[in-house]
Amino acid sequence: MELLYEGKAKKVFSGSLPGTVRVEFKDSATAFNGQKKSEISDKGIVNAAVSARLFAWLSDHGLSTHFIEQQDARNLVVEQLTMIALEVVVRNVVAGSLHQRTGLNEGTALDVPIVEFYYKNDALGDPLLNDDHIQLLGLASPDLVAQLRQEALRINQVLTPFFNQRGVSLVDFKLEFGWNRAGDLKLGDEISPDTCRLWDTISGERLDKDRFRRDLGGIEEAYQEIYKRVMQ
Ligand code: ADP
Ligand code: UDP
Repeated sequence: MELLYEGKAKKVFSGSLPGTVRVEFKDSATAFNGQKKSEISDKGIVNAAVSARLFAWLSDHGLSTHFIEQQDARNLVVEQLTMIALEVVVRNVVAGSLHQRTGLNEGTALDVPIVEFYYKNDALGDPLLNDDHIQLLGLASPDLVAQLRQEALRINQVLTPFFNQRGVSLVDFKLEFGWNRAGDLKLGDEISPDTCRLWDTISGERLDKDRFRRDLGGIEEAYQEIYKRVMQ
């Protein structure tokens, strides 16, 4: 199968059926816009399985995703999407760049979840955009921005209890959306410890990529723990 694209964490191949692609999850990890690089053993296996489970869970709850099937340990078959160049971030608890931008204490629970849009553009370092910037760049119409926000919040409403039941707090996460061949809006990319902040509900222990970003150690163990809890 033809390699269509190789990114930092995944490879995208043409699929065996028209309108589909195969996504291979790699063990490579990057942070700070590619400045920090490493391999995390079996990360690709964890992220493929966790994404497949969460996409299937979202479909079961009436949400539309690109997921078709898991082919093997590292490969998902998904609908090919024309991606929207926005990263849609949902936050339930203050962490990361929200802490840095606002000075609010990390770990502060938000009364109402918030949604942010970032420009998916490595050369610019994925900057935060407001609605006017999105219009200026022609990335999404106001109606589409509203639709993305609503969809992201619905996904949050389904995923938050899923994780809570497994002793995990869904602090924040990043989503990417696109259009399939029929012109339907679908959730794409992945949902994994690479793209979510996941904290143990009791201990607050970080079970996600922040262990790599912040050199906390125990990264493989944290990913395996999420795998175990999500698959149960
Ligand atoms: P990056 O491009 O940020 O380095 P990845 O290594 O995760 O990220 O590469 C995966 C690429 O595939 C991303 O650019 C993502 O937007 C894109 N993608 C995700 N889902 C689909 C899909 N269903 N169809 C086409 N492209 C997709
Ligand atoms: N995120 C992501 N890819 C990115 C940027 C952020 O998956 O390119 C996720 C990140 O894992 C976290 C959420 O989006 O779950 C919010 O990230 P934040 O804006 O706090 O950025 P960070 O400080 O992690 O760079």
